[in-house]
Amino acid sequence: MSETVSPDQTRLNPRTTAASADWFERAHRVTPGGVNSPVRAFNAVGGTPRFMASGKGAWLTDVDGNEYVDLVCSWGPMLLGHAHPEVQAAVAEAVSRGTSYGTPTRSEVELAEAIVGRTPVEQVRLVSSGTEATMSAIRLARGFTGRDLVVKFAGCYHGHVDSLLAEAGSGLATHRIQGAVPGTPGVPAASTAATLVLPYNDREAVEAAFAERGSEIACLVTEASPGNMGVVPPEPGFNQFLAETCRAHGALFVSDEVMTGFRVSRQGQWGLDGAHEGWRPDLVTFGKVMGGGFPAAAFGGRADVMSMLSPDGPVYQAGTLSGNPVATTAGLATLRLATDEVYAQLDSAAAMLSSAVGEELTRAGVPHVVQAGGNMFSVFFTSNPGPVRDYAAAARQDTGVYKAFFHAMLDRGVYLPPSAFEAWFLSAAHDERALQHVIDALPAAAQAAAAVVA
Ligand SMILES: *Cc1c(COP(=O)(O)O)cnc(C)c1O
Repeated sequence: MSETVSPDQTRLNPRTTAASADWFERAHRVTPGGVNSPVRAFNAVGGTPRFMASGKGAWLTDVDGNEYVDLVCSWGPMLLGHAHPEVQAAVAEAVSRGTSYGTPTRSEVELAEAIVGRTPVEQVRLVSSGTEATMSAIRLARGFTGRDLVVKFAGCYHGHVDSLLAEAGSGLATHRIQGAVPGTPGVPAASTAATLVLPYNDREAVEAAFAERGSEIACLVTEASPGNMGVVPPEPGFNQFLAETCRAHGALFVSDEVMTGFRVSRQGQWGLDGAHEGWRPDLVTFGKVMGGGFPAAAFGGRADVMSMLSPDGPVYQAGTLSGNPVATTAGLATLRLATDEVYAQLDSAAAMLSSAVGEELTRAGVPHVVQAGGNMFSVFFTSNPGPVRDYAAAARQDTGVYKAFFHAMLDRGVYLPPSAFEAWFLSAAHDERALQHVIDALPAAAQAAAAVVA
């Protein structure tokens, strides 16, 4: 399509979604639900998922020619915005030399050095997805400790790993120290029987679980700052408490920084807490930003733990495309361009936008809580006062209000996450024009939300 639409035209005159609808129908015939990852199907908000054709900076263009300011950023990876010219040039140069050799290459060493240089890990192993990273970290923790039990928190997502797809159900007990039930068919009860699910930000529950079963616990895995139940940051000192509790019981502390790594700071969430408080996680998982928009992820940590990994040690782990030269080149270029100025700009843009959202909702009389974890933030439509500190509270939000808000924003050319339980992401390319476009859409969206508040 050669025709271009100015964002202002889009806002005043939303275009058709006929082409997206056609593609979605075609997709349905060959792919379950028409998508390759469930949340893309818009099931939580209804309507036609937009098929994107291109992205540039803060903007996406769909197959009907509509433009949107993107507040999803591929669910986090696009820290620098879409089609960053220097990342593109690095990738094009890498592709021109070949795309995969199944041998060691230089760029994977350089990316590993960049990760080790920024974070508390001594060694890393590269993989292709965040799921693979957490799956492998847990295997390694079990192999290292010779124990089976894994502790996780309700509402934390660590990829679709069997043992981590466990929910404690709606009747979440305060102290759930029995094995969890699978959160999905297809996961054997045996896989989650060795998983304990606890309420987030709940020190007492953690203490009780370790008091009763501490000697069986291989690791505790947590999102470094949760963003997969909406943004529910750790209370001050919570991660330190987790690290210390694990150490006291000989369990490993696994910090999942797949979302936060290289996003909330140069050092990820650890740069906002552990680096100042003086503790280190035993293992850390990374993904999203470190792949620069390509499938690359990693897990790393203490050298004595990592040395248990094959071929040095007995814990097996491998990958045909692990450390792929194109993906690692994109990741390396992204990390090199993620300067202090980039993070300062992201932080101030996120602070500005999140307070603008809150003010507009307040003006429209819509009950809500805006929560931020570094430069990630989200809105809970709830009349319960005070912070949302765990999944039970997050689940009490009114998702119908989000749905109305989401569609009003979408109609005005703002692409929000198509679920109330997701973080909003900005990029360094979200300049004044893009941010103003979002702000201009807020009054009407707040009114749309107000119209459906129960
Ligand atoms: C996205 C995410 C994962 C899974 O990563 P994939 O690349 O989608 O497999 C794991 N943990 C966290 C915290 C995530 O946000």
